[in-house]
Amino acid sequence: MIILKLGGSVITRKDAKKPTLNPVNLERIASEIAQAKVEKLVIIHGAGSFGHIDARKYEIGSEIKDEEELAWKKMGFALIQNTVKNLNHFICHFLLNHGIPAIAIPPSSFITSNNKRIKSANLAMVEKYLEMGLVPVLHGDVVPDENDDIQMAVISGDQLVNYLAARLKPERIILGSDVDGIYTCDPKGDSQAELLPVVKSLSDLEFLEGARTVDVTGGMAGKLKELLELAGEGIQSEIINADCEGVLMKALKGEKVNGTIITK
Ligand code: ADP
Repeated sequence: MIILKLGGSVITRKDAKKPTLNPVNLERIASEIAQAKVEKLVIIHGAGSFGHIDARKYEIGSEIKDEEELAWKKMGFALIQNTVKNLNHFICHFLLNHGIPAIAIPPSSFITSNNKRIKSANLAMVEKYLEMGLVPVLHGDVVPDENDDIQMAVISGDQLVNYLAARLKPERIILGSDVDGIYTCDPKGDSQAELLPVVKSLSDLEFLEGARTVDVTGGMAGKLKELLELAGEGIQSEIINADCEGVLMKALKGEKVNGTIITK
């Protein structure tokens, strides 16, 4: 079994001012997944421009000051759920078109969190669908939070990877992003950035080859935190570039590709 995460940066236009799909990438990615013929597959996708804009606007996960703010946030919560569900609909549509029996399982319908970390999630349905030979598709979503001060939280696709991988124990965990893996600094802003083939711990990053420091920022920092937690439990994962034609298919087939392995 493989858990595959599709980054919001690959399936949407992440910097768009409104929710915008990347249909060219989606079509290619669905085709690559179909060609790889993975026996058991769980797909988790990020929200990209379908989630981040309203999550920021409604400040989901921040402390709620009064009833008025609560009412406003509830509306935001419902709007975000609807928007990411819309993205999930497109993803499943492309997968189905390529003969992949994708079955949507929205986290907002079965997951709760406590202080923004997944608290309870009954994975029986995910396991049931896997057993049936279907491909469960989950996504970054909003969920109810047990902390009364915040009441709602955003659960990233990367946190879902962590939670599901620790419990479903897949053979492999592959995260497709729009860069080759973890670099010494953001490769988009610095041409000197060097790809790190293996990352073992945060201290590894801080003290890499003596004085050289590593600067992992934004979404990649959050991703790495989740994956290092998994690595600590002895579960290895790999980040690859799903923006580049053919890389995802090769990775799914177990062929060697450029990327970063996060391990113990
Ligand atoms: P995704 O949407 O694929 O899950 P994010 O967009 O959240 O991923 O994070 C990937 C982005 O992180 C890359 O596009 C890159 O610009 C940025 N980034 C920042 N620092 C680093 C780093 N040290 N190595 C790789 N990418 C980095």
